[in-house]
Amino acid sequence: MADGSGETPASRAGTPVGRGPAGAPVIRLSSVAYTYRGPPPVRALKPTNLVIYRGEHVAITGPSGSGKSTLLNLLGLLDKPTDGTLEIDGIDVGAAPERERAAVRAHRIGFVFQSFHLLPYRTSIENVMLAQVYADEPRRRRRAAAMAALAQVGLAERAHALPTALSGGERQRVAIARALVNRPSLLMCDEPTGNLDTATTQELTDLLESLHRDGATLVVITHNPMVAGRAQRQIAIRDGQLTEHPPHGDTGAFPD
Ligand code: ADP
Ligand code: MG
Repeated sequence: MADGSGETPASRAGTPVGRGPAGAPVIRLSSVAYTYRGPPPVRALKPTNLVIYRGEHVAITGPSGSGKSTLLNLLGLLDKPTDGTLEIDGIDVGAAPERERAAVRAHRIGFVFQSFHLLPYRTSIENVMLAQVYADEPRRRRRAAAMAALAQVGLAERAHALPTALSGGERQRVAIARALVNRPSLLMCDEPTGNLDTATTQELTDLLESLHRDGATLVVITHNPMVAGRAQRQIAIRDGQLTEHPPHGDTGAFPD
């Protein structure tokens, strides 16, 4: 396979979210740093070591300007580290060519954003199907996979609704289904409840927790202490430096 996993699409079918052996590293940052070129240059992420293991639920919190988006962009392969090495599923992707990075991103990482990013004139199931990367699979199979992802977030009965007919919480569930449909190694959520009221935030957090129980590996960037409090690991970022409380052994987050 182009993504180097050695799996065929067929062998992926039916694989639970968070595929692969429990406890293997999904992400490993070794002395990863990031500097915006400027001028003037901004050292937005100081040299960082961080390992996130399969099946973990990690929250990242920090004030505005602390480096959260910078870190997310690195973890999500949207930017390349300016220093250090970054591995996903053991693949050294930090410096890999863009084509390979795009393949890893598409197959192994699911993104959920604060503002949902659904296409307004597409139904729920169409929005989910737009994320599917297995072009060689027949449409019938892809529809079934999209429906299964919607069922996983409790929205099977709203598969044919347009986003305008859905509540904010339901829209975010569609966005989560879209992020899950390729059975990514990692679900990356950037302020997933930022646009939701308290009750809906609670529901969404319950959903994330149930996905985690089913084996998903979650990284959730959030300002909301209630959302962060539901994670197993809490990492704070301030001035581009990560600290973890309590420390996660010598393979957790710590400054270089
Ligand atoms: P957060 O997401 O926590 O608000 P960011 O990761 O966006 O923080 O920003 C971290 C630091 O990097 C801030 O000092 C910010 O001003 C700076 N920064 C972000 N984007 C750029 C850029 N494109 N060019 C220069 N500096 C940037
Ligand atoms: Mg930000």
